[in-house]
Amino acid sequence: MSSDSQTSFEGLGLAPEIMAAINDVGYTTPTPIQAQAIPAIIEGRDVLGIAQTGTGKTASFTLPMINRLMKGRAKARMPRTLILEPTRELAAQVAENFDLYGKKTRLTKALLIGGVSFADQERAIERGADVLIATPGRLLDHVERGKVMLRGVEVLVIDEADRMLDMGFIPDIERIVKLLPFTRQTLFFSATMPPEITRLSEQFLQAPKRIEVAPPSSTNKNVSQAIIEVTPMRKRAALRALFDREEVVNGIIFCNRKRDIGTLLESLQRHGYPAVSLHGDMDQHIRLKMLEEFKSGSAKYLIASDVAARGLDIPNVSHVFNFDVPSHAEDYVHRIGRTGRAGRSGAAYMLATRQDSKYIQAIEDLIKLEVPREELDDFDAVGSPEKRADKSGGRSAKSPRRRRGDTTPNGQALGDDAGSSGNSGNGEGRRRGLLGRDRRRSQNKSQDKPQEQRSEAKSAVRTAAKPEKPTSAAKAATPKTATATKPTASNKGQSADAFGGNMPDFLKKQLK
Ligand code: AMP
Repeated sequence: MSSDSQTSFEGLGLAPEIMAAINDVGYTTPTPIQAQAIPAIIEGRDVLGIAQTGTGKTASFTLPMINRLMKGRAKARMPRTLILEPTRELAAQVAENFDLYGKKTRLTKALLIGGVSFADQERAIERGADVLIATPGRLLDHVERGKVMLRGVEVLVIDEADRMLDMGFIPDIERIVKLLPFTRQTLFFSATMPPEITRLSEQFLQAPKRIEVAPPSSTNKNVSQAIIEVTPMRKRAALRALFDREEVVNGIIFCNRKRDIGTLLESLQRHGYPAVSLHGDMDQHIRLKMLEEFKSGSAKYLIASDVAARGLDIPNVSHVFNFDVPSHAEDYVHRIGRTGRAGRSGAAYMLATRQDSKYIQAIEDLIKLEVPREELDDFDAVGSPEKRADKSGGRSAKSPRRRRGDTTPNGQALGDDAGSSGNSGNGEGRRRGLLGRDRRRSQNKSQDKPQEQRSEAKSAVRTAAKPEKPTSAAKAATPKTATATKPTASNKGQSADAFGGNMPDFLKKQLK
């Protein structure tokens, strides 16, 4: 009998073709949900899986489904199994998983998602699909057109049920379930179990095996974490400074609000950073295109909301940037879990303002770590067009090309970094509030130096505690007792000044 501590896929009851595919993908050990769900599903039991993405839940249902589908054949317009997903991206991802794990079989699938033409989907159904992977709305469209019959469905998977609830899909799901045979196997997955989801699970499942795996509440030790102190108005400049400092292969930037995604996208593109974005309201073609551009590397930065990015599996993400501190601590764990996958190292930065202290506290309580604070020094210069012009031997810093985001001679902001508060003020004025007198003086000093020295000074985006660029090992998240950012006497002064003497408590704590 398998259990959580199962150390190999042997003995779970999977066919040799599937074992070979697992071997090719490189999985050696089943995750806890796989160890428990696979044998139960193969036995034919209903399953209630309380698990989030990242737990390996997709393979926990696709592997035994493929196992079952290998016996028997698909009939035209009568799919044998049905997987319901809340979003098009998740559906597409499950379809990819299906291809990966089923590559040594001859199974067929149809992916029914909105925003793309009906014709190809109808052809796939017509040919006969062993599995239908669908979002609820598009599936019902096909049903209404009379193109698909659900009477032959032997296994139903409802994935991310709580998210279906959030997105208002429950009535659609209830309609779909009424079209399915009463005797079927149902696999129901949800990250959380609010009362409405409990009611549905009781309605749809018969004597299910309940499998609950702990939500990830700890962060991956391969991911170095840091919090950057910043005022709301300087977030975009800070982000650009981080981009310039870090060796970013590709990075996902998380915003809390949809409307900020568009603003940030425009700003980054204007500053020459190849970025795309992903949010719920986007046309399907554009969403898939954006995702593809990011995955292929033609766009280095992907700006996303939690909802749009949830469940997306993008391998090899080097950096995660939290443009906003998430208000749900679990979201932090999800966000930074986008990097450092499959044993690789990654880095996660979070821009924090003084208003964020209680959210940071909640995050640190959840992950049981105190995230090191870092300071970006002179980041205005580092992220600015002037600096990049310097670097490329272009325009001198003294006569920068004026663009949105720069300031007019009389000190009025032209828009880009003025922030949502609408505060304009010139760059120096804004810096004054953030950096305080001492820092300004040191900045002025660097202005008096010869050009080469000045650019060296500008490129030094220093961390408060670590004057040199830390190695990834050194940057690794530090346990609560650690003194990772214990400041020196000199930078203590800087940090205290950074908020004009009103440093938020969560940051003060680091300076004790
Ligand atoms: P999921 O929770 O289904 O979104 O899966 C999260 C990630 O874990 C995906 O990138 C999978 O490819 C990966 N994965 C699934 N099962 C295993 C396993 N047994 N060993 C290693 N990685 C896995």
